[in-house]
Amino acid sequence: MRNLVIAGNWKMNGSQTFAQEMREALDNAEFSERITTVVFPPFLAIHTMLGSDKFAVGAQNCYTEQSGAYTGEVSPELIADAGCQYVLVGHSERRTLLGETDQVVAKKVKLAVSAGLTPVLCVGETLDERESGNFKDVVEQQVVAGLKELSGDEVKQVVVAYEPVWAIGTGKTASADQAQEVHAHIRSVLNSAFDGAGDAISILYGGSVKSENAAELLGCADIDGGLIGGASLNSKEFITICRIA
Ligand code: PGA
Repeated sequence: MRNLVIAGNWKMNGSQTFAQEMREALDNAEFSERITTVVFPPFLAIHTMLGSDKFAVGAQNCYTEQSGAYTGEVSPELIADAGCQYVLVGHSERRTLLGETDQVVAKKVKLAVSAGLTPVLCVGETLDERESGNFKDVVEQQVVAGLKELSGDEVKQVVVAYEPVWAIGTGKTASADQAQEVHAHIRSVLNSAFDGAGDAISILYGGSVKSENAAELLGCADIDGGLIGGASLNSKEFITICRIA
């Protein structure tokens, strides 16, 4: 059985007060034991969210080295040492705005696993790539490249998030059919390129998920949860999505 994961990516939002309110709301919520709930606050709010028995915590990024003279960077080891269990790697905003390449992403994924974290490898095509029709190749390339430094056992410790770039923060969601098509493709790529690992790996959908569309998307055979951006900033909405899952 694959893990069903509902993750909230706060991006560069919130404040200490916001984190305290979110902490209280999530600690008081009832979550089904079937799902793993994860929050990805900004680095400076992580400490407020750690230590709950209701949800796990992750960082939104990590560096490509474990320690050293890299002013301003945070390594996977430091993130794990602080008590986080997850880290997002290769989010499209970092690929686009900060020039993260597949090579950088692969290195981060490898170091995250070495540090004992679960990397959430984010992949997804742009609108141009979707319209040109080769979106499955684009996503396949990102998945294979992102995992290429891992051993067979390590690959199974990863979570993949499919987030079509054109659906992130735009209010446009992939239809359940469009999402399922790509998820099934990712799973078959994982199975063929990584020795059957696809059946063990949770593949999350992200891109304008909200309570109104969660049931349809999360009901798809190959969608094992969601990576929620905007809607995770509202505790009621986020908890509702967890319930729907
Ligand atoms: P969104 O963001 O739900 O606001 O579209 C998803 C994400 O970028 O992880």
